[in-house]
Amino acid sequence: MAELILDGSKILWHQDRLEQWKKGEKIVPITIDMALTQACQYNCEFCYANLQRNKPHKITLPIMKNFLDDCAEVGVKAISLVSDGESTANPIYEDVIVYGKQVGLDMAMASHGNTLTEAVLRKILPALTYLRFNFSAGEPQRYSEIMGVPEKNFYETCENIKTAMKIKKELNLDVTIGMQMVLMPKFGDQIIPLAKLGKELRPDYVVIKHCSDDKDGTLGVNYNDYEKLYDLLKEAESYSDETYFVKAKWSKITSKGIRNYNRCYGTPFHLQMSGTGLIAPCGSFFNEQYKQYHIGNITDPNIRFKDILKSDRYWEVMDFLASDKFDACSMCETLCLQDKTNEVLDSYKKGLHNLKAPTGEKPQHINFI
Ligand code: SF4
Repeated sequence: MAELILDGSKILWHQDRLEQWKKGEKIVPITIDMALTQACQYNCEFCYANLQRNKPHKITLPIMKNFLDDCAEVGVKAISLVSDGESTANPIYEDVIVYGKQVGLDMAMASHGNTLTEAVLRKILPALTYLRFNFSAGEPQRYSEIMGVPEKNFYETCENIKTAMKIKKELNLDVTIGMQMVLMPKFGDQIIPLAKLGKELRPDYVVIKHCSDDKDGTLGVNYNDYEKLYDLLKEAESYSDETYFVKAKWSKITSKGIRNYNRCYGTPFHLQMSGTGLIAPCGSFFNEQYKQYHIGNITDPNIRFKDILKSDRYWEVMDFLASDKFDACSMCETLCLQDKTNEVLDSYKKGLHNLKAPTGEKPQHINFI
């Protein structure tokens, strides 16, 4: 089985885009991370989406079909339904996943997974590259406290994970099914219970990641406190076996929230879109207060996504992030989605990386960079 990279960038496997970028050409994103709504049935304590509120617009199936057609036409390779909302709260999500796959895009989704019944899973799993259950505790009571729902949701979602794995095996599907914990330092008591729970439920992997915070530290994450949890995280990883992989996102957990670059080059490769249809370069700038970074909206009937990508406004914002007027260390959220890609591209700009294609077997999920 090819390597599953859960803590790194796959940008080096996209030499075509890198060559265009090196020449200063206007590139099309490889991956777009988006949501179909900003709503959610859960109320997680660590949720960054609460900091990303912007003007609501409804994303409908016709809008999404136009968008996905445009993505396929211009050369976008993959769409992840993650971003700033729970996409299952928009009833179009099943059709969106199936349609995206039909037009040639790799599709993925993260969800709390509580509403993923067997019938739904049978429809969406064959079209997904990965399905990630957001699951930030290993015990029912703590799940309820951390994720803001009754304890029964814990049991229901565990059943859904088992059902997803059953369908994957029965239909011999390629989809990767994982569980993800967003770890605030105060949730450290749940690291081992989650590793053990995963061992029982047997998804393909459990990943434990840091919690992002905005530039003002609104969620109150103290990145120095992760250090006290290193032993527990190593112990959790020791629960891995041949078909069950437990992984901590060490690079970010140990980074203390500090960036080693100032310019941002990653967003034209890895674009983000809010559950309101808003296109901003990344989730750090969805909130209405960051209007200076807002580019357009896929719900706007007067412009198609493929034209937004070519627009002066799009490149004005992207070029600003890559300019010396921008400072990612002081103007952004902590440890963003594009962080590992940014590190690689920034090293190249500083003459420390040649961007050569890696040798060896391609990792899984290559188009989700
Ligand atoms: S470095 Fe800043 S601008 Fe660039 S993707 Fe990350 S949060 Fe967004």
